[in-house]
Amino acid sequence: MNLLVKGAKVVNSQSITRADILVEKDTIVEVKPGIKIPSDKVKIISAEGKYVFPGFIDLHTHLRVPGRPDKEDLLTGAKAAAKGGFTTIMCMPNTQPAIDDYEVAAWVRNKAEEIGIVDIIPIGAITKGRQGKSLTEFGRLKEAGCLALSDDGDSVENSYILRRAFEYAKMFGLLIISHCQDKELSGQGIIRESFVTAQMGFPEWPALAESLIVSRDVEIARYLGARLHLAHVSTKRSLEIIRQAKKEGVSVTCETCPHYFSLSLQDIVNSGFNPYYKVNPPLGTEEDLKAVRKALKEGVIDCVATDHAPHTYLDKEGDFYDAEFGMIGLEFAFSLFLKMVREEELGLEIIAEKMSSAPARILSLEKRGSVQKGYYADLAIVDLEKQWQANPENIFSKSKNTPFLYKKLKGVVEYTLFRGKIVHRAQS
Ligand SMILES: [Zn+2]
Repeated sequence: MNLLVKGAKVVNSQSITRADILVEKDTIVEVKPGIKIPSDKVKIISAEGKYVFPGFIDLHTHLRVPGRPDKEDLLTGAKAAAKGGFTTIMCMPNTQPAIDDYEVAAWVRNKAEEIGIVDIIPIGAITKGRQGKSLTEFGRLKEAGCLALSDDGDSVENSYILRRAFEYAKMFGLLIISHCQDKELSGQGIIRESFVTAQMGFPEWPALAESLIVSRDVEIARYLGARLHLAHVSTKRSLEIIRQAKKEGVSVTCETCPHYFSLSLQDIVNSGFNPYYKVNPPLGTEEDLKAVRKALKEGVIDCVATDHAPHTYLDKEGDFYDAEFGMIGLEFAFSLFLKMVREEELGLEIIAEKMSSAPARILSLEKRGSVQKGYYADLAIVDLEKQWQANPENIFSKSKNTPFLYKKLKGVVEYTLFRGKIVHRAQS
């Protein structure tokens, strides 16, 4: 069925224009003002006063299957993604079993295609069982549909194995995504090392635990001339290292997550140590938060990813010490980024860039990341002024672990189109 989006403001990474969008099957065939309705077999979406973004692309989602479908599965994850305006998501391999061979990766890929709500691309593990000991079969993971590899949740501790991973990944055209955490340094840490850990006697997680591995991985990538993508960068010092590496021509890209530009250590304190604020890496200081915002503006941070990390009520209740790390993000990322963009008085183009164009470029995803003729009709049609409030009943994700519960946010995704099909429609 053909479809016409009428009267929208179209936001791409370089421009905002008023135009109609004509879709045939799964593809955008025209983007211009005043498109005449070609026949009565066209479904019309009136987008007057709304903004249309290229469907968002998340490089960092945890969908918990195989292994923990009580936290999330591909269907609920896909629905949460579509509600958040995402049309492509990459799911991390720290599942049980890990996505570390052809069978598991192909299972995720096939199941995702069956569901069909958004595109779900599995990320393969770098090492077998994410144990850091021996490499997985990169070629087979690629055949199963993986585009990137990561041991997310852990760094590859052994620098020799990481070196080999970079070399093989290059041969297969796969992207290495690094989770940067020196586990000896982060130890039993639950929040950032700071005056708070000093005062309260909490085990500390120093910023160094991240920046040290960022520095090592950048150095290995530089040495080999390899491509590197750094996950969830959260500290000022890491960003200084990345800024310098980019200046020197190292092929490095990085992401941050909405919580690192929206929240800081102070919010944990103010919440009375609510476990919903416990994430890995931990929320930074006010200085880190400012550095993350600045790096986003200046392009040192290439993209925004969610690190959507669903956990059951039990896993997140009770003590800050014992709670799991992570918060859900798919349904919140757009509103939180919009909030930041407004606070920093930036143009909306940066949202299209960091949530769609850049991730498409980083993964070399064709026909994605822009609203233009010939591209997939993957679109997020949003009302920027509409307010909403998350509560456990209206969250699509199976898990409800977010500190933004019951908080008012602006920006509602009215429609999400995936390959020309309406996969999400907001309730009015
Ligand atoms: Zn991670």
